[in-house]
Amino acid sequence: MRRLTILGATGSIGVSTLDVVARHPDRFEVVALSGHRQIDKLAEQCLAFAPKLAVVADADAASALRGKLAGRVPTEVMHGSEALETIAALPEVDTVMAAIVGAAGLRPTLAAARSGKRILLANKESLVMCGAVFMHEVASNGATLLPIDSEHNAVFQCLPTQGRAGVRRILLTASGGPFRCTPLDQLDHVTPDQACAHPNWEMGRKISVDSATMMNKGLEVIEAHWLFDTAAERIDVVIHPQSIVHSMVEYVDGSVLAQMGNPDMRTPIAHALAWPERIESGVGALDLAMSANLVFERPDLDRFPCLRLAFAALAAGQGTPAVLNAANEVAVAAFLERRLGFRAIADVIAETLDTLPDMPATTLDDVFAADAAARQTAQRAIRART
Ligand code: NAD
Ligand code: MG
Repeated sequence: MRRLTILGATGSIGVSTLDVVARHPDRFEVVALSGHRQIDKLAEQCLAFAPKLAVVADADAASALRGKLAGRVPTEVMHGSEALETIAALPEVDTVMAAIVGAAGLRPTLAAARSGKRILLANKESLVMCGAVFMHEVASNGATLLPIDSEHNAVFQCLPTQGRAGVRRILLTASGGPFRCTPLDQLDHVTPDQACAHPNWEMGRKISVDSATMMNKGLEVIEAHWLFDTAAERIDVVIHPQSIVHSMVEYVDGSVLAQMGNPDMRTPIAHALAWPERIESGVGALDLAMSANLVFERPDLDRFPCLRLAFAALAAGQGTPAVLNAANEVAVAAFLERRLGFRAIADVIAETLDTLPDMPATTLDDVFAADAAARQTAQRAIRART
């Protein structure tokens, strides 16, 4: 029996996780859930899974949730960011799904690492912000890191079980998002809903915009660098609009191993939940004949400047990826609130990177300082445009 905490249970990944968990009541027990401000959804999940603990954003959200659960389930409701760290480190929990979006996921995911949990990592921002610190905590506390991001889960499945002998390159596939073929001059006018209408995946709004700018792939290159201890020069991005091949590993003998499947996050989630075993995920069998042509293209860095910025941030190292991540979060939020145009997202990030070129990232405090400085700088850059 695996005993789970799900951080970000009410999001797209959280909901898919509970879908898989519900198929295997004999294998998994839900001990704690978090849902920030999505009280109705979290209440529903508490009623269905009766966790011992639930965590929300603040005292108001907590009393609203208590009101909905009173007399129905004995779930104890807590609030605030420290409570997230508490449920990530509970002694009775062995597995933590880290599915909070953005930098807010860093502290609780680190808490899971420090208490030696099996971490199912969806929150890629943790690794982007402070890969070195994070991987050190994982290794020195005996935690196990299993990637949920479909590309990294695919690479994990294609790599040798031990070591990296014979591996030449990691090939991350990218769908290219909804604007892969949109004329460049029309990109200034695209709306948040258009950006979030991903052709293959249903995801939260932040990562959907990241997919449209391809910053998501940039963040994933940085994520792959840390997860698989692989230099940036050995990580390539390939556009593959059908999202059937989830990523590949190339070996020195010319072999390329790919992991394929329908685009449904329940596959990587089930893989990581059961690893090294395999369990049913609810995802239908892949019908290759119906998938028709699988297309692969090189990414166009003029169309997707965010990808170039991410490679540059990884090369710069230290606090620069944290600056990139924070500037991106601020710019994407402004775009979603219609305060910033789509193409200006990359401009704001580039300006922030230029303003803050040498932030250190030796300690966690350094990382949070880089994050805070980048948020301020990006906000200023956005205000200057409006
Ligand atoms: P989402 O927006 O659907 O859900 C986010 C979750 O985090 C929700 O439970 C929300 O309540 C919670 N949350 C939001 N802000 C918070 C805060 N400040 N403090 C605490 N909790 C907060 O996002 P998602 O699409 O499920 O993505 C979650 C993470 O997984 C992201 O890091 C994303 O990059 C990664 N990821 C998602 C997918 C996908 O298919 N959705 C695929 C790969 C990786
Ligand atoms: Mg991905």
